[in-house]
Amino acid sequence: MDAAMGGNSAPPMPPGRPQPGGAVGDGPVELRGITFAYGEGELRRAVLRDVDLRVAAGEIVLLTGPSGSGKTTLLTLIGALRGMQEGSARVLGQELMGARESQRVALRGRIGFIFQSHNLLGFLTARQNVAMSLELHAGLEEAARLARAAEMLAAVGLADHVDKLPAKLSGGQRQRVAVARALVAEPGLILADEPTAALDRVSGQEVVHMLRDLARRRGTPILLVTHDPRILDIADRIVAMEDGRIIEMQEARA
Ligand code: ADP
Ligand code: MG
Repeated sequence: MDAAMGGNSAPPMPPGRPQPGGAVGDGPVELRGITFAYGEGELRRAVLRDVDLRVAAGEIVLLTGPSGSGKTTLLTLIGALRGMQEGSARVLGQELMGARESQRVALRGRIGFIFQSHNLLGFLTARQNVAMSLELHAGLEEAARLARAAEMLAAVGLADHVDKLPAKLSGGQRQRVAVARALVAEPGLILADEPTAALDRVSGQEVVHMLRDLARRRGTPILLVTHDPRILDIADRIVAMEDGRIIEMQEARA
């Protein structure tokens, strides 16, 4: 079903429609009027213009759009990796406009990030890389962290590879380690930026299907940026961006 929304003044969702996860306004991601520019003075260039976007509890939203349309910038704002300039972004209940650095750090600890390239540390084993995500969690001894990391790696099909260094794993296996690392601390939200960009079709699909299944089981919402038409099937909803604006939203499964 195509619910294309025309213009940037349109509401983020069709009005009056019940959303999973409660009333409009309390979803894990609530963006209103996000505008963002890089550069100063004459070099100033707007890359996001009045973006409204919502991710409901447990929802998997794919964000597509041409290169340069502002997808990564939007994701880094939502992930509190970059400071807000204009608009409102409530993420897991935290308003990011005007938030203190300590609040942004705390929020980042509740988000699982997956990037285009896996960003694993080459001198640590798969299990040690995943266990690092648990270091912020006070009260977990190292042995317990490593045990949980091994369980998470088993859940992504890497039980036999926990003690390998990233260089000894295939691209798809490394990205599965990145999925395990993002999920092991039970985040309230997953943000993924082109997670299949460096993978062939089969391993790309394996990785995102695994991510979807694990997130669904836990009720973890996902906002995933992708160019890749081969993985659109994992979405509950697909949102298209162009030139810094949201141009279209569609329900993936009617
Ligand atoms: P996408 O992820 O959709 O490719 P980006 O958010 O990376 O889009 O980029 C949006 C626009 O902002 C592009 O024109 C890009 O060149 C520009 N841009 C991205 N990062 C920076 C930066 N750190 N400084 C200046 N311009 C940037
Ligand atoms: Mg990008």
